[in-house]
Amino acid sequence: MGQMLCNNFSPPKCTFITWLTILDRLATCDRLQKFGIVCDQLCVLCGNVDETRDHLFFVCEFSYEIWSSLLCWLGIQRTAGDWQGVLQSAHCQSNSSASCIFRMCISIAVYFIWRERNARKFQQVKMKPDEIVRNDQNCYLLKVFSS
Ligand SMILES: [Zn+2]
Repeated sequence: MGQMLCNNFSPPKCTFITWLTILDRLATCDRLQKFGIVCDQLCVLCGNVDETRDHLFFVCEFSYEIWSSLLCWLGIQRTAGDWQGVLQSAHCQSNSSASCIFRMCISIAVYFIWRERNARKFQQVKMKPDEIVRNDQNCYLLKVFSS
C-alpha cells in the first residue's frame, strides 16, 4: 500500500480517498448496513446493483468509463481490471515517471468516482463520465504537471 500512496503525484485528497478505499473504510451502502444504518442499497451511478466498494470502483459501467477515459488520456494501454489486479500492478511498478503517473491515475479515478457518487446521493447533481474527466483533468493533472 505504501508504494501505491507514496510514489504518487496526485493531490493529497485523492490519495486520502484511495487509502480509505484500499482499506475498505469508505461509507459505502454495504458497510453502512453492517452498522445498522438504513440507506438505499442501489448504486447511484448505474442504479442496477447494490453498492459495494468493488462494484462502485471497478464493476460499475459508469466507473469503467471513467477509468477508460483517464487511461486513454494518459496514453496507458490497459484495461482497468479489478481492484486487486490494479493494486498489484501499482505495487509491482517501479518508481519511473510512467509508474508514478499510473498510480496517480488510480488515485484520481477513485477520487472522481467517489465524488460523483456523493454528488448524486446528497446533492442530486449528475455528470457524465466524459464530462467528469474532461473538467477535472484540467484542474488536477495540469496543476500536477506544471508544478
Ligand atoms: Zn453501479
